[in-house]
Amino acid sequence: MNAAMYDHIMVRFGELSTKGKNKKDFIFRLGDNIRNALKEFNGLTYNVRMDHIYINLNGLDPTPIVERLKDVSGIYSFSLVLKTNTDIENLKSLTLDILNKENKKTFKMRAKRADKLYPIISDDINRQIASHVLKNSSYKVDVHNPDVLVSITIREDAAYIFTEDIMGAGGYPLGVGGKAIMMMSGGIDSPVASYLLMKRGVALECVHFAAPPYTNAAVIDKIKDLCKELNRYQAKIKVHIVPFTKLQENIYKYSNESYAITIMRRMMYRISERLADKYKCLAIANGESVGQVASQTLASMKVINDVTTMPIIRPVAIFDKTEIIKIAKKIKTYDISIRPYEDCCTIFAPKNPKTAPGLEEVLAFEKKWDFESDIEECVKNVETIVVTSDLEDKDKNYL
Ligand code: ATP
Ligand code: MG
Repeated sequence: MNAAMYDHIMVRFGELSTKGKNKKDFIFRLGDNIRNALKEFNGLTYNVRMDHIYINLNGLDPTPIVERLKDVSGIYSFSLVLKTNTDIENLKSLTLDILNKENKKTFKMRAKRADKLYPIISDDINRQIASHVLKNSSYKVDVHNPDVLVSITIREDAAYIFTEDIMGAGGYPLGVGGKAIMMMSGGIDSPVASYLLMKRGVALECVHFAAPPYTNAAVIDKIKDLCKELNRYQAKIKVHIVPFTKLQENIYKYSNESYAITIMRRMMYRISERLADKYKCLAIANGESVGQVASQTLASMKVINDVTTMPIIRPVAIFDKTEIIKIAKKIKTYDISIRPYEDCCTIFAPKNPKTAPGLEEVLAFEKKWDFESDIEECVKNVETIVVTSDLEDKDKNYL
C-alpha cells in the first residue's frame, strides 16, 4: 500500500450490540480515546460520526499513526482513505492513479453507495471504473484473489477510496465498562490480565502489596515499567502501593505456616475491596489462573473469595501459562515481568501450602489477633503513584 496517496483514516466500530444512548456513549468515548492515543501527532483533526470516525491527516505521515491506532480498544478495523468528490470521471482517474502507484498485476472493484440518491448503481460504478483501468493500464481483473481490492464508498458529501482494511484491537472503548482495581504483582499474569480487561472497556487502578525490607524497592520500578507498557491502552494508570510488612509478619506469627498464603490472600482481598470502594471501582481483578499454584485451586479460591461480595474478575483464569506468555510477549510486558525480583508471595512461600484449606481453621487463626487494625493501617498508609504515557511527566513526584 502506498500510504502517501491517502489523506484520511476511516475507523470502523464493527457490529455494535448496543443501540441508542449506549451506542452514542461508545462512539464518543472511542473518539476521545483515539484523540488521546494520538495526541502527540499535532495537526490531526477528527470527525466523529455515528457510522465511522474520520481522522484528517492534514498532511501528516500515517505510518506511526496506524501503529498507535492498532492498540486502541473498541476499533474493529480501519483504513487509510482518499477523500474526494463523487464525480465518476474523477473516481476513474484516481483509481487508475492508485493502481499505478501500487504497481501490481490484478485488481477488483468494490463500490458501495451509502448515498442511495447517487445516480449510478454500485454494479455500474464498478463496471465503468474497471473498464477505464483495463483500457489504460496492464492490470487484469481477478474477482477471486485480486492483488489490489479497490473499495469506494459514496456518501452524500464525498467519496472515499481505499485498498486495505487494517484490523484493530477489537473489544470496547476503555472506560465504557466502568473501573476495576487490579492486583498487580510484577509477575507475568497480572499485566496480561490488565490488558485483557482494558480491552473489554474496563479502566483500571492498580494495587500492589509491598513488604519491605523483605521485598526489594526494585519491584516498584518494575511495576512502573509494566504500567508504562499498559499506557498504550490506558494513558494514565494509578498504582496504590500498600505497606504490607506488619500485616504479613502478623500472619506468620499467628497462623500455621501451611495456612499463611490463604490468609495472606484473604487480607489482600480485604484491602483491595476497601480501596475499590474508596476509589469507586466496581470489581477486583487479578492474574489468578485455575490450578496454577496451591492458592489458585478452586477449593482455595472459594475460601479466599469468602471475604468479599465484590465481583472478582480473573481474565486469565482458564489460560495455560504458555498462552499467557504469548500475550505477554505481544503486549511487551514479558521481558519486564521476568526480571528477577522478590515478591511478598515468593519470600514467604511455605513448603506445604494448603491446596484445600478449611474455612473453620482459617477463621480460627484470624481470630488470634486484631487484623482489622492492621488493615486500617495499610489502607491509611497507601502511597499512590501515577504512571502516564507523557514522557515529560516521567520524573514528576505524584505522592
Ligand atoms: P503473576 O500471577 O502476575 O505472574 P505471580 O504468579 O507471582 O505473578 P501469583 O502468586 O500467581 O502471582 O498471584 C496471583 C495473583 O495475585 C497475581 O496475578 C496478582 O494479581 C495477585 N498478586 C500476587 N502478589 C501480589 C502483590 N504483591 N501485589 C498485588 N497483587 C498480587
Ligand atoms: Mg500467577
